Amino acid sequence: MVCSLDFAELRARVEGLGLSRFVTTQLVDWVYGKGVTDWDRMTNLSRANRELLAKELPFTLTLDKSQAEGEVVKYLWRLADGKAVESVLILAEGRRTVCVSSQVGCAARCAFCASGQNGLIRDLSCGEIVEQVVRINGVLMEKGERVSHVVFMGMGEPLHNRSAVFPALRHLTDAQLLGISRRRITVSTVGVVEGIHELAQSGLDVNLALSLHAPTQELRRRLIPYAREVDLGSLLEAVALYAATTGRNATYEYTLIAGVNDQPEHAEGLADLLDNQQCTVNCIPYNPVPGRRLERPSRESVSAFMRTLRRRNVVATCRITKGDDIAAACGQLALQEPQAIVGNSPQQLQLI
Ligand code: SAH
Repeated sequence: MVCSLDFAELRARVEGLGLSRFVTTQLVDWVYGKGVTDWDRMTNLSRANRELLAKELPFTLTLDKSQAEGEVVKYLWRLADGKAVESVLILAEGRRTVCVSSQVGCAARCAFCASGQNGLIRDLSCGEIVEQVVRINGVLMEKGERVSHVVFMGMGEPLHNRSAVFPALRHLTDAQLLGISRRRITVSTVGVVEGIHELAQSGLDVNLALSLHAPTQELRRRLIPYAREVDLGSLLEAVALYAATTGRNATYEYTLIAGVNDQPEHAEGLADLLDNQQCTVNCIPYNPVPGRRLERPSRESVSAFMRTLRRRNVVATCRITKGDDIAAACGQLALQEPQAIVGNSPQQLQLI
């Protein structure tokens, strides 16, 4: 709740509770400046004020469990209604990237992704999205670090929850709140055409990644049930318009699945489709999801796929798989509790 409000809204609420203006500055400094979400630590606020604020403007996430593997830490958050979502912190190349969830479950039901296997359960609120970043920022701040990047690549389809995601993007970039650069925030979408247009018009100016996964409509609709209703031409036009409006190059994500979309003809088809576009193709070798009879391609076929793209002058990168031993890699976020996640105390986390 506290994380769903911007500075002006917080001030109005705080003053509405009969507290002085200055309390808002103190509260914002604790939460966003110092990464503190424990009311007892907000020592320059009186006990009575803390109790009032905790009741009227509560934090909404409870850390249920977390698990670390190498450069990846996965957090399982309990929401106020008992439902749960996950976020992932990735420590790499000097970056501190938080991968946030935007929904509980997902309606897109991609064939290779765990998040949508039970469909959409509910949208997250703006506060629930922002709080994922605030809480992980708090853990990092104990070590003198901060969240540097945010990617909307956890559970859910962010452009199916625009009424919460757009305000959350505002809070993340607001200099009075988290102040993360727009260039360091990426919204990844399964391809919600009207959502891409709205994001372009919003002036939020974040990076956009489109989950393409196939060079043709025919193959794409087999992998992404949602894509059956989406014309590939209109989708690519929306992405091109986004790039033109924001001045940002588009990124296309392409999950490589052995024998399904990783063959030389797929790479050639993709290069034809993206001909003349200034863009990057980010290849993600499939991360295994229980119950799916799909396989990750061999290193050789991943390299061959990338070589073909590069020969055709398409900029191609490959996302190195991180965190798949703790089911924290792309597409593995689903609620597998309690058996797959090992509990750590917040103290242990600070050592990571
Ligand atoms: N709903 C958003 C965010 C999804 S997660 C979207 O569709 O873009 C981020 C990326 O991981 C997407 O490109 C998604 O398709 C991909 N992904 C999902 N499951 C995967 C899996 N099992 N292995 C590799 N990539 C996967």
